[in-house]
Amino acid sequence: GASDQNEDLRALIRTIPDFPKPGIMFRDVTSLLADAAGLRATVARMAAPWEDKGIDKVIGLEARGFILGGAVAYHLGAGFVPVRKAGKLPGKVVTQDYALEYGSATFELHEDSIAPGETVLIVDDLLATGGTAEAGITLLERLGACIAGCSFVVDLPDLGGAARLRALGMDVHTLVA
Ligand code: AMP
Repeated sequence: GASDQNEDLRALIRTIPDFPKPGIMFRDVTSLLADAAGLRATVARMAAPWEDKGIDKVIGLEARGFILGGAVAYHLGAGFVPVRKAGKLPGKVVTQDYALEYGSATFELHEDSIAPGETVLIVDDLLATGGTAEAGITLLERLGACIAGCSFVVDLPDLGGAARLRALGMDVHTLVA
């Protein structure tokens, strides 16, 4: 599969056990982002499947999705729009709560950031349960966006996020499992 082609990127992703709590294997992409060749290859490979898909805007999910999403947007010649944690965006927003492993969080999106019918691509560093991405999808659908798909560096397939997003009709692309 696609993951076989990205061993160079896999080798640059650091695993930190028991962060942020015991039992979690934290897949840390900061070591990948810090590597010049690794960052360039990551951005190019995340963007490649979407190059002829007419992407108007890339949507980055706070916070690591901002770094990758901004670079992917530049690569595709698209605009960039942030989905942020509650209370950070200054304009009028649409709001969506979502579940975390313990508790919940709230995402917001500027309501004038996407025009109905614009084609968007969602970007984040890692897909686990898919709850974070689904909250972004819900906000985008409320604004009438046409979601071309979702692009992540890392997929944790045991947590079922890719299946969950595909069940919503999403095209899901990941580089490393
Ligand atoms: P989920 O909503 O379950 O798909 O979780 C995805 C979000 O949580 C992403 O923004 C990730 O950055 C973060 N995340 C979840 N699990 C991990 C992990 N094992 N290592 C690094 N980041 C994670």
